Amino acid sequence: MKNWERNIRKVIPYTPGEQPNEPDMIKLNTNENPYPPSPKVAGRMAQINMDQMRLYPDPAVTDLVHAIAVRYGRKDEQVFVGVGSDDVLAMSFMTFFNSDKPILFPDITYSFYDVWADLLKIPYERPALDDNFHIRKEDYYGENGGIVFPNPNAPTGVAMPLADIEDILQHNQDVIVIVDEAYVDFGAPSALELLDKYENLIVVQTFSKSRSMAGMRIGYAMGNPVLIKYLNDVKYSFNSYTMNRLAIELGVEAVKDEEYFQETLRKIIDTREWTKEQLRKLGFTFEDSKANFIFAAHKSVPAAELFQALREKHIYVRYFNKARINNYLRITIGTREEMEAFTAFLKDYLN
Ligand SMILES: *Cc1c(COP(=O)(O)O)cnc(C)c1O
Repeated sequence: MKNWERNIRKVIPYTPGEQPNEPDMIKLNTNENPYPPSPKVAGRMAQINMDQMRLYPDPAVTDLVHAIAVRYGRKDEQVFVGVGSDDVLAMSFMTFFNSDKPILFPDITYSFYDVWADLLKIPYERPALDDNFHIRKEDYYGENGGIVFPNPNAPTGVAMPLADIEDILQHNQDVIVIVDEAYVDFGAPSALELLDKYENLIVVQTFSKSRSMAGMRIGYAMGNPVLIKYLNDVKYSFNSYTMNRLAIELGVEAVKDEEYFQETLRKIIDTREWTKEQLRKLGFTFEDSKANFIFAAHKSVPAAELFQALREKHIYVRYFNKARINNYLRITIGTREEMEAFTAFLKDYLN
């Protein structure tokens, strides 16, 4: 090692799902939405004034904050917007998890949490999910420096009842509890309705999955105005202009088109339920998913083998070679046609 290397911060980075780009591919590996953003977004795009790009964007992201606040019946001071929920979560870790006690998150969960904790030198513990991949609320009763979990959980798709989330909040009134609701719109109960009751709750959501805007990078947090202020103070201490002009303007259009949003959700949920039936018939087992993906294992064929066989056909799913989950595939719900092609291939392969 060179001397100058000694004091360099060294981290093991998060590995995002691959982004292949073949014309014939069926991409079911990163939980993107198979439908385009609202047509109102494209309409707005056509009216963008390029000259304005000379100017810095609004550091407070006022218009988008307001549109989100209106959609969720909140005050503007209760909303924080960032560059995808990854940015919102990273800022939240930095702001809220600043204790010597370990933060808690499940052993099987979004694999960015331990990366941020390591990067920011936050101690952590990972209580194990039960054998059916459900969070055990009792594991979150002990002393800790904060709590974060997705609901539904990723990559399992399992949703926690609101009563269990409230139970965790009741046992943890002296730390910040972050509920990562990246997939909540696909059918899980949102913790937003607990916001007025628990001042230490932060709910994080994203435009990447249910609003078809992964490429635009928009995420947001909602919580009490004191927490949102602390979050903004950290953001302004890091980079004032995180949200670009395009993301702000197009984000507003996306959040305003409720009808298109509901229609897209309904299609994905219907296709998910159809896909569950097909997978069961093909010999897969899985916990019930409330997300836009299914986390499934086959009764006889190893997941690693299926992953490769699918890949050769340019059908991409996600495989995690990790303890406890290395026999599972995480399958994003695409269009009905994509899921028909996917299940047809499996039917053929498994016979
Ligand atoms: C996809 C995802 C995110 C982040 O998505 P962004 O595109 O950064 O908004 C956060 N948490 C979980 C659990 C996710 O699956």
